[in-house]
Amino acid sequence: MQDFQLSLDTIFRRAEQYYSDKTVYTGGPAPTLTTYGEWAERTRRLGGVLDTLGVSSDGRVGTFAWNSGRHLELYFAAPCTGRVLHTLNIRLFPDQVVYIANHAEDEVVFVDRSLLGLFLPLLDRLPLVRYVVVMDDLPAGAPGVEIPVDDRFHDYEELLAAASPVEFHVQDENQAAAMCYTSGTTGNPKGVVYSHRSTWLHSIGVLTNAAIGLAETDTVMPVVPMFHANAWGLAHAAPMAGASLVFPGPDMSPKGILKLLQEREVTLTAGVPTIWQGLLPLLDGVDLPKLRRIPCGGSAVPKALSEAFRAKLGIPILQAWGMTETSPVATASHVPARYADIPEDEQADLRARQGLPLPGVEVRIVEPGSITPLPWNDEATGELQVRGPWIAAEYYRPDDGAELNTEDGWMKTGDVAAIDQFGSVRLVDRTKDLVKSGGEWISSVELENLLMGHPAIKEAAVIGVPHPKWDERPLACVVLEEGSTVTGEEILAYLEPLVAKWWLPDAVEFIEEVPKTSVGKFSKKDLRTRFADYHLG
Ligand code: ADP
Repeated sequence: MQDFQLSLDTIFRRAEQYYSDKTVYTGGPAPTLTTYGEWAERTRRLGGVLDTLGVSSDGRVGTFAWNSGRHLELYFAAPCTGRVLHTLNIRLFPDQVVYIANHAEDEVVFVDRSLLGLFLPLLDRLPLVRYVVVMDDLPAGAPGVEIPVDDRFHDYEELLAAASPVEFHVQDENQAAAMCYTSGTTGNPKGVVYSHRSTWLHSIGVLTNAAIGLAETDTVMPVVPMFHANAWGLAHAAPMAGASLVFPGPDMSPKGILKLLQEREVTLTAGVPTIWQGLLPLLDGVDLPKLRRIPCGGSAVPKALSEAFRAKLGIPILQAWGMTETSPVATASHVPARYADIPEDEQADLRARQGLPLPGVEVRIVEPGSITPLPWNDEATGELQVRGPWIAAEYYRPDDGAELNTEDGWMKTGDVAAIDQFGSVRLVDRTKDLVKSGGEWISSVELENLLMGHPAIKEAAVIGVPHPKWDERPLACVVLEEGSTVTGEEILAYLEPLVAKWWLPDAVEFIEEVPKTSVGKFSKKDLRTRFADYHLG
């Protein structure tokens, strides 16, 4: 067979040649609509801009931006000219953004105008950033942060208008295409570098029906941010498939999302569970006849949430599991044909699992601290480890020298899981979120899923709090649906028949809101800090 390089310029050319009439829509206060044909021409010009700005041949190109058509231009112009796209997470703490941009040695940062207010205060601490290119996503004349008059600042559209389109040709599929830092639930964020090859293969993986299964006939709306974990590969997979794209731009509100789903006739949309939780109350009496699939992951998808979508829209949520380190999609949870005839409620239990690895990815669970595989009987639990062509082998220059892989080449995920006889993964918890009671582990995820099945409970997070006898005991932190009244005793009585006695939380605390991380996941770290001195009893 030919030795053909799996590089992103081949995806780019495919969209340019075969799907030039398909569209890319960006919402927000200044919506734009382009075709892949126009996008391709602009992306080639953007390659010219990077040359004119003198960005090194393998230099890091930072982005500080919402999901948008311009961001998609950067997604291809940087890697297809040999540079490395570095998506900065706009929701991280300022110190972390500064750390990441300096660690990656970003030479230029492309910033949405609506985010300038967040970005400008950081600039003095970014000595390597030679240029800031502002992408104006606000309506003409709208008030916004003024662009400083300074040689470092440029306007995106002005640069593009003055540039000439360039040819793309990437020599080596193993060269770096993009990088992303984990959102750092512990310690400093750690960088993951994706190669052209890994991104190419991940895109194919995402396209398969074993994963998200998007097709040319789809209109895809990634709500999952392009600034974290590559929008789950959708920004590469959609151009590869020739599917039209809809980007929310700066408006990520449930109302804004619903409007785009309706008006743009979106068929496939993806985001973390909190996004769909937020949309749920707006769905009464709403018909979305075109919508056919809602991939969701980043944290466990509660059965109750998926079932609520099935009840209201006729489609359950499709759960997928992955990490920044796994590109990110590694498993997806389709109900296998062998279970097609089981009752819907049991199928919903299967959908609450993380599911089968994508073609190319392999999974195992091991005894903690060892590389001894555990049996696939859905009972034994151990650290989930994965390997495959889009699984990271190491972090990018880690401060603490952290080893990501085992000595026999499997990636340590830090997640605890069981695997059933057919290989379907069921995530029990993150290692650091397990509650350790008298030497036995309690799954916070499972308790949360059950709690969120209670009609009066909107959100629930379970954390371990210190206990003199048992070391740690579970505390349920609960947010009630508006207008609901239910007592802690009633909640515990609801849980009692559903779990082993010693799993029952020792107490229930009612809180206003579960704190969220930069990408909308429950931040247990913040809850643990808040309840560090909690006294049980
Ligand atoms: P971080 O949250 O550490 O910044 P990522 O965004 O890469 O990093 O998140 C990866 C983690 O998110 C996984 O290790 C896992 O704990 C959790 N996760 C992702 N998808 C799922 C899922 N479908 N169910 C449960 N947990 C998930």
